[in-house]
Amino acid sequence: MSILKPYFDGLIERRLLIPYCKSCGKPHFYPRHACPSCWGEEYDWKDASGNARIGTHTRVLANPPSAFEPLLPFEIAIVELEEGVSMLTNIVGGGTVSVDAKVSLEFIERNGQSLPVFRLTNGT
Ligand SMILES: [Zn+2]
Repeated sequence: MSILKPYFDGLIERRLLIPYCKSCGKPHFYPRHACPSCWGEEYDWKDASGNARIGTHTRVLANPPSAFEPLLPFEIAIVELEEGVSMLTNIVGGGTVSVDAKVSLEFIERNGQSLPVFRLTNGT
């Protein structure tokens, strides 16, 4: 069984699970086979709150890889989760995307998979 199986099982249940290293206690993201702080290989998986802020973003208007062509235009961002880790994701739902804007987790279905994306939080 892959050490990353809990992460992908979580996505099926529309949960974003963050690995916390059992050796040093630190969270990291993306999930990987060894803790980037101490090389530990056992994790506790905890649900992300879903609250985040945009760290940086860009709007793709043209010439994406062909599989993404139907999605144009789309917004790519690195969001900073309140757990202290960041992730590469999409911002959905429109609005004025800007650095430091608050966003909330949701899931979209694509090619039979649930994918974590974010939407601007109302009132920001
Ligand atoms: Zn560690």
